[in-house]
Amino acid sequence: MEIYLYNTLTKEKDVFKSLEDKKVKMYSCGPTVYKDATIGNMRTNIFQDILRRILKYNGYEIKHVMNITDVGHLVSDGDEGEDKMIKSAREEHKTPLEIAEHYTKLFFEDLKDLNIEMPEVICKATDYIPEMLAYVEKLVKNGYAYETSTAIYFDVSKLDKYPVLSNINVEDQKAGARVDVDPEKKNPYDFALWIKAPENHLMKWDSPWGPSYPGWHIECSAMSRKHLGEQFDIHTGGIDLIPTHHENEIAQSKGYCGKIPANYWIHGEYLLINGGKMSKSLGNVYLLKDIKEKGYDPLVYKLLCYTCSYRNKLNFTWEGIEATSKSLERLRNGYQTNKNGKDILDGTDKKELARLENEFHKAINDDMNMPLAMSFVWEVVKYPKKSPEIADLLQKFDTVLGIKINKEVKENNIQIPENVLKLVEERKQARQEKNWAESDRLRDEIQKLGYSVKDTKEGVEINEL
Ligand code: AMP
Ligand code: ZN
Repeated sequence: MEIYLYNTLTKEKDVFKSLEDKKVKMYSCGPTVYKDATIGNMRTNIFQDILRRILKYNGYEIKHVMNITDVGHLVSDGDEGEDKMIKSAREEHKTPLEIAEHYTKLFFEDLKDLNIEMPEVICKATDYIPEMLAYVEKLVKNGYAYETSTAIYFDVSKLDKYPVLSNINVEDQKAGARVDVDPEKKNPYDFALWIKAPENHLMKWDSPWGPSYPGWHIECSAMSRKHLGEQFDIHTGGIDLIPTHHENEIAQSKGYCGKIPANYWIHGEYLLINGGKMSKSLGNVYLLKDIKEKGYDPLVYKLLCYTCSYRNKLNFTWEGIEATSKSLERLRNGYQTNKNGKDILDGTDKKELARLENEFHKAINDDMNMPLAMSFVWEVVKYPKKSPEIADLLQKFDTVLGIKINKEVKENNIQIPENVLKLVEERKQARQEKNWAESDRLRDEIQKLGYSVKDTKEGVEINEL
């Protein structure tokens, strides 16, 4: 069955054709590990996970590469401001390495909680400095880059076409000359490939241009080339990456070898909170941890993401989470009822279930239409007869959904009070810091409040005493 994907490059829903038969090479722009990942960031990771699961459902073997940006991503996303890692290190009184390790670990924990499959390759920018330097040197040699007193810039005027992905208007920028642009830039849209480090800069490496560090865009170009080659199949990321980061990755690759690195550019839309932007000033920045602390299975959030296409804005509300939590419970109960079901399926049933399986397949292959796919999952769950064969079909769907549909719903679905959840969280923190005495003290406190805690592979289990 054909797979259709909306391609930002062609602005069409294209039929997916891999470069190599039944193999997919895919690159996703990973996090800059300077702060906690929000549920917004996680929405992007969820859509990337669905994509890889759908490709696998269709029989493709996947090599998926994701980077971890631990240097060079400036506060502005462009060429202005401080390095996000260094800013965070200063604010948290830690080294950039400590910051990177801390937030990378938390990021991986979120992926695990969301049952997001790990990409085959995870690459951290600071491990690829020689590859990035070689890339920049080749761009200079090919005549696409020039040196100023502060950086090595990519010269966009050397390209046959810029932009190719987005609809930014280069002419507008020229006319409206921004005041904060480096006066040594030849064109306003030229961007830094390599940045000369000021005295006392924390992260810098020797280069032909003195102590310096990479720009954010060159990182992905060098790492994707290293692991996937000059051309691969799919490049993904959040929608905000289109006009700067991805546009510039394409520019770099064209300057390097004359090619657009990926054939399909797939972008996920933003998550809104109560219909608006998530922002620190509004106090509505939510983490997966917040959902867990309220006692919800984190996979409720994953299921919530399936209520809307990855290409549309999704609105997060706690009411939505509550309703989806009930849906997840019903799906899992539906699985269990079928697993224990004794009905015999006749020819008509089998035909109908095959139809539903096919409809599910068509929906996921139609640009990851998860709301439609879920409607067929529900039809299967609500099928009048109950049989282990139906449970098997639901299990098959779950290879795409990744919501652990076969997980048993606990009968004692108790509402844990906030103060107990707070102590459980503090205990978790103490255990992470290997402060066992504090962990024991907190367990006793929790017990005094009438609850027990048990550490399981799935996380902490809380029960009424
Ligand atoms: P940030 O760390 O905030 O720069 O975000 C990292 C990436 O996560 C962004 O480049 C986006 O692609 C994605 N992202 C951030 N916020 C959201 C959101 N509210 N919804 C969906 N994706 C987001
Ligand atoms: Zn990237």
